[in-house]
Amino acid sequence: MSSQRPSPITPTVDFDRDGTQHGFLRLPYSRDDSAWGSVMVPICVIRNGSGPTALLTGGNHGDEYEGPLALYDLARTLDVEDVGGTVIIVPAMNYPAFRAGTRTSPIDRGNLNRSFPGRPDGTVTEKIADFFQRDLLPRCDIALDFHSGGRTLDFVPFAAAHIRPDKALEAQGFAAVEAFSAPWSMKMLEIDAVGMYDTAAEDMGKLFVTTELGGGGTSRADTVRIARRGVLNVLRYTGVVAGAVDALPTRWLDMPSGDCFSFAEDDGMIETMVDLGDSVEKGDIVARVHSVGRTGTAPQEIRAKLSGLLAARHFPGLVKAGDCAAVVAVVVN
Ligand code: ZN
Repeated sequence: MSSQRPSPITPTVDFDRDGTQHGFLRLPYSRDDSAWGSVMVPICVIRNGSGPTALLTGGNHGDEYEGPLALYDLARTLDVEDVGGTVIIVPAMNYPAFRAGTRTSPIDRGNLNRSFPGRPDGTVTEKIADFFQRDLLPRCDIALDFHSGGRTLDFVPFAAAHIRPDKALEAQGFAAVEAFSAPWSMKMLEIDAVGMYDTAAEDMGKLFVTTELGGGGTSRADTVRIARRGVLNVLRYTGVVAGAVDALPTRWLDMPSGDCFSFAEDDGMIETMVDLGDSVEKGDIVARVHSVGRTGTAPQEIRAKLSGLLAARHFPGLVKAGDCAAVVAVVVN
């Protein structure tokens, strides 16, 4: 079976060695400009004896920046003396996509977060997924994967965990989200969970926390601060880093059903009728899509299918039929 092949990826770090190591996951990638070339995915391992292992990742999508900003910073500044266990940091998982500033890989158009469990004999993106699936995820006790909206979405800043069949793990996940201390915390529903890193980690029984911290293909001062504080808080919560959680108030949101999501049904120019974080009532118009091919056409009205607040919105001014236009989440407390 192909899944039993060894991974073509060679780490230049030793996961069992104490101390701080900065290295690479070296993935052979033969191409026109480098016959025996490689993709060099940066990785940092900070280990201090036995103890729990945290796997911290950003750049799963290449156009989301809060995670990479927090994680390159953490790799540079975390003192090994403050660690009890192992911290593995991969700040830009889909490194080719990250270097291109795009959601998917410019090499194979692979969306890493739809490529799990991956293949050792697949595309570059599938090979990265396979290495996480069979090598890195099994090592960890907790995985924290940073996301933001990328170029096409913008979110109110939240940390999130999923509803899970194992209620003890679910409670630990929500407690870790609470410890992260983003302004918002989400009980998150996925519209497309097959192939996600989240699903791979959870199927292995790992504690898993994710985020959506902003978007638009950039970052903001406040969302980067939230990411930096959040990652340290999760490390403290899990006991990987010494010290008390720097807890701040957070408000819980829920995504109870697919009614949270609204999609454009026409191409056109999108007009947001409420801003992120604003309250909406069921039936309110959250956005309008204006046809631009001719004058005199009424816009498509996109209405909230439940009451709550606007948690995410389409970011670019132009929208295509099928694009996610708005996400309304229910305020729990
Ligand atoms: Zn993402």
